[in-house]
Amino acid sequence: MKKTIRDFNLEDKKVIIRVDFNVPIKDGVITDDNRIKESLKTINYATSNGAKVILLSHLGRVKTEEDLAKNTLRPVATRLSELLGKDVTFIPVTRGEELETAINNLKRGDVLLVENTRYEDLDGKKESGNDEELGAYWASLGDIYINDAFGTAHRAHASNVGIASHLDNGIGFLIEKELENLDKAVNDPVRPFTVILGGAKVSDKIGVIKNLVTKADHILIGGGMMFTFLKAEGYEIGKSLLDSESVNFCKEMLTDYPNKIILPVDCVCANELTNEAAPRATIISDIHADEMGLDISERTIDLFSSYLKESKTIVWNGPVGAFEYPNFATGTRRLCDLLATLDANVIIGGGDTASAAINFGYKDAYTHISTGGGASLELLEGKELPGIAIIAEK
Ligand code: AMP
Repeated sequence: MKKTIRDFNLEDKKVIIRVDFNVPIKDGVITDDNRIKESLKTINYATSNGAKVILLSHLGRVKTEEDLAKNTLRPVATRLSELLGKDVTFIPVTRGEELETAINNLKRGDVLLVENTRYEDLDGKKESGNDEELGAYWASLGDIYINDAFGTAHRAHASNVGIASHLDNGIGFLIEKELENLDKAVNDPVRPFTVILGGAKVSDKIGVIKNLVTKADHILIGGGMMFTFLKAEGYEIGKSLLDSESVNFCKEMLTDYPNKIILPVDCVCANELTNEAAPRATIISDIHADEMGLDISERTIDLFSSYLKESKTIVWNGPVGAFEYPNFATGTRRLCDLLATLDANVIIGGGDTASAAINFGYKDAYTHISTGGGASLELLEGKELPGIAIIAEK
């Protein structure tokens, strides 16, 4: 078990918390402040336990001088201050005297936000390349390091792995929740355990399939990736997405796990991926040469539902159709509807699946919706994430 923020006496300590404030900002206005809200529990715990809080986060990518102004965390400091109901000191640099003086002036319960850690990428990718000197410098600013940025935990950056290798460390409440839910679902599931996999390419999910095929009772395949599996079964798939390099992998999986991997029996097709294209529902043996499959259809929804209704643990990664287009969103929406009614642990992976569930109004309907796309995918692959591996065990 990893050490958590609860394992430290924070009183009067300078506590560096790596948060994920990588929020969408348009014309200086934050369009979705969920990530800021998700970090409040850890920040509030630290301030109410007497810590002097120093927050680090990245925002977008910084490659050119122009990216600097576009990616400042200043609007985040303003919003954070509103949400916390207290002043947040914003320091518009990532190192130097102004930052050090402000930190030395912090009092118990104060909160300071450092400028975007990726400002350090402009000069030789110091943050993203986990520059040794930078990690050691940031570590020198605090007494304790807490990682609570799940979205970047699958990367070894100076602001997570770098700092943690120089300071006493632990995880915050957000990462703790992610680990508890994802880890338990995969490694100690209440059975039956069913996985829904979708999304565009099989090749992106090979690691997940390999890891989960031995752990899950069933894997339901939808999305663009279903067509590579169907091709491997010998079906004509028209213009549907085909990941030709993965056909052999799919064949192997279908041969080795014939009763575990469940493929769709019908789909919704169209001539092109637009809202104007007329959708046609068909059984999978009748996809026309000029059509592409863009969603699962009624019989598959029924088939998948029969497995899901029996399940006690469900993990879902990847939408089962091109859900961004209303004509091809039905499969994903219907599964979202069903999962919200089930008496089961329902874990939604981050990224597109999380956006779909939240857009359909199900933000609070499931056991857990992961906040990290790449990070949740790597956990499902059974990998240890560097930002978490570096954290001390209890
Ligand atoms: P991923 O990032 O691999 O999880 O893929 C998510 C993307 O897959 C979304 O943008 C979906 O629109 C897309 N997608 C899902 N099903 C299909 C499909 N049948 N054909 C094309 N794209 C799809």
